[in-house]
Amino acid sequence: MRIMQETPYRLRIEREGEMRVPGVVFASRALLPDPAADRSLGQVADVATLPGIVTASYAMPDMHWGYGFPIGGVAATDIAAGGVVSPGGVGFDISCGVRLLAAALDRDGLDPRTHQRLMDELGRTIPRGLGRRAVWPLAGRGQLEHVLAEGSRYAVEQGHGTPRDLARCEDHGAVAGADPASVSARAMERGLGQLGSLGSGNHFLEVQAVERVYDEPVAEAFGLRRDRVCVMIHCGSRGLGHQICTDHVHAMQPAMRRHGITVPDRQLACAPVESPEGRAYLAAMAAAANYGRANRQLLTEAARRAFAGTCGADLELVYDVSHNLAKIETHEVDGGSRRLCVHRKGATLAFPPGHPGLPPDLAGSGQPVLIPGTMGTASYVLAGVAGNPAFDSTCHGAGRLQSRHQAVRSVRGRELRDRLEAAGVAVRGASWRGLAEEAPAAYKDIDEVIAVAEGAGLCRKVARLVPLGVVKG
Ligand code: 5GP
Ligand code: MN
Ligand code: MN
Repeated sequence: MRIMQETPYRLRIEREGEMRVPGVVFASRALLPDPAADRSLGQVADVATLPGIVTASYAMPDMHWGYGFPIGGVAATDIAAGGVVSPGGVGFDISCGVRLLAAALDRDGLDPRTHQRLMDELGRTIPRGLGRRAVWPLAGRGQLEHVLAEGSRYAVEQGHGTPRDLARCEDHGAVAGADPASVSARAMERGLGQLGSLGSGNHFLEVQAVERVYDEPVAEAFGLRRDRVCVMIHCGSRGLGHQICTDHVHAMQPAMRRHGITVPDRQLACAPVESPEGRAYLAAMAAAANYGRANRQLLTEAARRAFAGTCGADLELVYDVSHNLAKIETHEVDGGSRRLCVHRKGATLAFPPGHPGLPPDLAGSGQPVLIPGTMGTASYVLAGVAGNPAFDSTCHGAGRLQSRHQAVRSVRGRELRDRLEAAGVAVRGASWRGLAEEAPAAYKDIDEVIAVAEGAGLCRKVARLVPLGVVKG
């Protein structure tokens, strides 16, 4: 593989073999994955072979190995030219994403006793781990179908939130084109008892404080100011999304043969967007995305109750955005406007100022982009910028450096909890092992990832947040 450094923050994997486009990796040398330990650069090249891919196969600065596509991968295919959709380009946790809430409270208003009571209450009421508890145990299939078709809008309609929550959610709370009929019975069954639950260890609800503001007017438009207490929620579509991914990867194997598609890795199973299998996947994916948004909405409701009951502060939604999704979007490619299927897997949508997809009050500032770091370091709020070179996408986190297995061997859960508590971060975990898997040392340096993302013109910094307490999946 020939890799050329184009700028300090941009490397190019030259076309070779079956690659239809080059690979473009936004990274500093220091952030590049170690090829001996992680095959993700090869995955960027593999994705470049997909039918209909345009411009380049991209990777974000937090990239690492994933199923088929790298995590941190972005690929757009031209629908009219037979472009494909690939479930591996979205990932198993369909519409996994991040939501940030700003509390009507500053950090010095949270005295130590109230802080502990708040964390206890969140720890008691936020369903997480492998248990089957959920904020909203659905009455049955009929109700679940409403969630799949209407996402957060249905949750809000049923009293679990406010209309403003929808204004500040990507796609106004619901992805169009969702079809509950393309969701298997097994996926439905898995989804019934999990609406309003975090899931496993990488998912969390974190109480944070704004430590630094880089752009006052934009932060103010987002509802942020220095010292403000915030809540960040990271979770996705639980077992339902996982089952949908599994089902459709299977369904695409025979479809690929029929369409004469060959790929270098079975995990890149795909089908033309405009084929029965492609359409069925996108309809089921949209249903899972709606479930994911409703899931974050229900967890918001639980967090609001915990805040109201312990410190009386309201929580206002800053934004909710997915980082595992494929979307049909129109972009300029080679001087022409094209309908593309843009896969973002471990990559965050980042609309520039003036984009029609933004709520009117954010038109001037660009889209809020929410980037978790780790429970022991920092997280960021960014804004989308004009001229983004990767179809309005940026990173989604710090990105793993160590596998879960390696992380567990490097630190004991109890020891990590003690260290975090000593540093002022209250920990409410689901299991010691889960905690150790997510040790801050298992992740790349979030400050470096953000500096590279900004330097590469993918986004810009608005605020830096530090953790005060974490409820870990
Ligand atoms: P993923 O969606 O790939 O599972 O995770 C996204 C990002 O979340 C990771 O790259 C990591 O930077 C971040 N992350 C994982 N656990 C935590 C946590 O407990 N707190 C915060 N703030 N970030 C986390
Ligand atoms: Mn996830
Ligand atoms: Mn995620």
